[in-house]
Amino acid sequence: MTEPPRRSFETRQIHAGASPDPATGARATPIYQSSSYTFRDADHAADAFALRDLESHAYTRLSNPTTSVVEERLADLENGLAAVAVASGQAASALALLNIARAGDHIVSAATLYGGTYNLFAYTFADFGITVDFVTDTDNPDAWRAALRPGTKALYAESVGNPGGSVLDLAMVAGIAHDAGVPLVVDNTVPTPYLLRPLDHGADIVVHSTTKFLAGHGTAIGGMVVDGGKFDFQAEPDRWPQLTKPDPSYHGLVFGEEFGALGYALRLRTKLVRDLGPAVSPFNSFLLLQGIETLSLRMERHVSNAQAVAEWLDAQPQVEHVHYAGLPASPWHAAAKQYLPNGVGAVLAFEIKGGLDAGRRFVDGVRLFSHLANIGDVRSLVIHPASTTHAQLDSEQQRASGVTPGLIRLSVGLEGVGDLIADLSLGLANGSSG
Ligand SMILES: *Cc1c(COP(=O)(O)O)cnc(C)c1O
Repeated sequence: MTEPPRRSFETRQIHAGASPDPATGARATPIYQSSSYTFRDADHAADAFALRDLESHAYTRLSNPTTSVVEERLADLENGLAAVAVASGQAASALALLNIARAGDHIVSAATLYGGTYNLFAYTFADFGITVDFVTDTDNPDAWRAALRPGTKALYAESVGNPGGSVLDLAMVAGIAHDAGVPLVVDNTVPTPYLLRPLDHGADIVVHSTTKFLAGHGTAIGGMVVDGGKFDFQAEPDRWPQLTKPDPSYHGLVFGEEFGALGYALRLRTKLVRDLGPAVSPFNSFLLLQGIETLSLRMERHVSNAQAVAEWLDAQPQVEHVHYAGLPASPWHAAAKQYLPNGVGAVLAFEIKGGLDAGRRFVDGVRLFSHLANIGDVRSLVIHPASTTHAQLDSEQQRASGVTPGLIRLSVGLEGVGDLIADLSLGLANGSSG
C-alpha cells in the first residue's frame, strides 16, 4: 500500500492531532479541566511514573488530553517531531535552552530580540550562571562565528525580529551552528508556521509565544517548544550530559538512549516542566486550538493589511522611514522573498518626524488602534517603545536595541484596511500638531 499524500496546511491546521472524543463522540476537542487522572491499577500507575507508559495522563502539570491535541497539531504544522506546550512564550524560550545549558555554559543570541527574551538572557540567565553573548550584525556570518566559545550550547534568534522586521538568514546561521556542533533555536512567533517553517531551513528547535498570532484572539497566554528531532546529541556525548548521562531523578534513565530522537522533548516535559512548573491551563490550550483552526485565513489577511498599511505609511510626508521587509527598500526584502514568499507577517514599525513628542501625540491621536503592549491580535495594536517598553533605557541603550525616539510599532489586525488607514491619518495629523 502506498502512503497517502500529506494533507495541506489548511487541512492539518484543523485536523492534526484531533479525533472525535473517544468517551463521548464530541467532535470538537473537549476541555479536559482535570488536574489528575485515575490509574487502572498499581502497575499502570508505576508505568506512568517510570515513563514506561507515555500514552496515559497522570497529572496536568505534566500532560493533559486537551493540551496533547494542540501539541501534536503544532508539531505537525512546524514539520517537527514533538512539541511541549508551556504557560507562556517566556517559559518556552527559557526551557528550550535550560534543557541543554547549565551553569558555566554559554549561548550566542541575535541582539534583535523581544524585550522579555533580552531580559531573560542578559539578567536572569546570568543569575543562573549561563552567559549569553549578543550578535548585533546578524547578517554577518563572521559576527556569529566570532561569538562562539568552547562552552557554547546553542545559537538563538528570531526568524522575523520584533519590532525591527529583520529576516534571519536561517540557512547561514544553521550552518554555523552545525559546524560548531550546537543546535539552532529559533523564535518563530512573528511569522507563524503558515508563513515560515524554520525546521525546513536547518533550525533544530522552534519556540513560540502562542499568545500572539497562533491563538490570534488576544485572550490566552501560552508558549510552545517544537523539536525537529534531528540534532544528534549522541555525536558528542560528553557535551550533552542532560541527554546522554543517567538521570538520578528517574532512577538512572538516559533520555537520549531510552527515547532516541524524542529524548529532548521528553526531558523538557518530564524534568523541566515537572520541576519548574510552568504548565499551561487546559482552557488556554482549548482557546489556542480555536485560533489555530483559522490560522492560514487570518495570516493571509494580516499580511495583506500590513502590506497596504506599510505602503501607505511609506508615502506619507510625516513618516521618516518604514521598517517592513515587505517593502522593496528594506535591507531584508531579498531574504523575505527567499524565506517568506507568502508574506513577512503583520508587525511593522515606522519613524515619525518630530521624535519623542510626535510619537506620544501619535498614539494619543489614533482611536481604532489599541494602545497596548502586545502583537498578533485580531485587533490592530500600537505602541510607542521610547515612552513605554524601552523608557527605562538611556538613549544609547535605546539606539542599540533599535528603538529611536520617533519609532512606533504596529501590529496590523484584521479590520477593514480603509478604516485602519483613516485611523493612522488621525494619528499622523495629531503627531505633527505640536
Ligand atoms: C510576546 C513574545 C514573547 C514572549 O511571549 P509571552 O507569551 O508573552 O511570554 C517571545 N517572543 C516574541 C517574539 C514575542 O512577541
